[in-house]
Amino acid sequence: MSDGGVSDDADADASADADADAESDEKTEATNDGVGTVYLVGSGPGDPELLTVKARRLLDEADVVLHDKLPGPEILSTVPAERREDVGKRAGGDRTSQEYTNDRLVELARDGETVVRLKGGDPFVFGRGGEEAEHLADHGVPFEVVPGVTSAVAAPGVAGIPVTHREHASSVSFVTGHEDPTKDESAVDWPALADTGGTIVVLMGVGRLPDYTAVLRDAGMPPETPVALVERGTWPDMRVAIGTLDSIVSVRDETGIEPPAVTVIGDVAATRERVVEFLRGRGDAAATAVATPDAPGDADGERDSAGDAE
Ligand code: SAH
Repeated sequence: MSDGGVSDDADADASADADADAESDEKTEATNDGVGTVYLVGSGPGDPELLTVKARRLLDEADVVLHDKLPGPEILSTVPAERREDVGKRAGGDRTSQEYTNDRLVELARDGETVVRLKGGDPFVFGRGGEEAEHLADHGVPFEVVPGVTSAVAAPGVAGIPVTHREHASSVSFVTGHEDPTKDESAVDWPALADTGGTIVVLMGVGRLPDYTAVLRDAGMPPETPVALVERGTWPDMRVAIGTLDSIVSVRDETGIEPPAVTVIGDVAATRERVVEFLRGRGDAAATAVATPDAPGDADGERDSAGDAE
């Protein structure tokens, strides 16, 4: 490709490679014809200090930033509204289609714009970044992938939960909780996961929590297995709720935990309780959403419902 030297250049735009080797295939022609670059950028879990240096620079330089709500208000508010396009849920509750987003990326790039497609966490972890990359390639649009700190590791981490631990878990699986785990051809083999003995981190798994915890129990996972829900990890209003495979559904209901949240299943989920007294930052003790009959944890009051991918 002719854009080899462009990707790290702050002033990079498609015109800069107009003098590159003149191949005749359609993609290269398009690239040489003033097509902008699309950056598939991970925002990290929400704390602006967890943006990568590169993500920060690209957000400051992009002509247009296409985003949904997952990067969170703190990060999104650092990009002037006139350079932002929300391709997440619309006011009416309808979700913008992936086709629209794909087409919009191509359209903007063909207009010569430098485009950031900003995604929560890492763009290639349940972020549809792969589909967008393929679409861009299919349409001759040059792109660069800018990894981000995935919530799958970071949300438990700031809550004091290591996803692996020499004494508790030697493997970790990242799975979507979005699918119906009881359907015949579930995309996730829950019983096999139960057998690994490692940590299971479920994304998009608030709604179907009752379904997959039941499947895991049926597969032989002990009912007392620790489970944590980490809601809006690293956001100012982050919350953490702890239970067991048996109790976590009522914990969810009593605390009112809602998306975006990750579910951490395994012995590591109990680590928080051992360390929380000395845990600082946004996951500190104040972030705990207690679920007892006397102290329902949702005393935080009403909060805006955030963008989710559930
Ligand atoms: N690409 C993202 C994941 C997108 S799928 C990443 O790497 O983090 C959307 C799911 O991510 C949400 O349903 C939730 O499970 C999880 N998620 C994203 N941000 C989160 C956060 N700050 N705290 C907890 N979970 C989060």
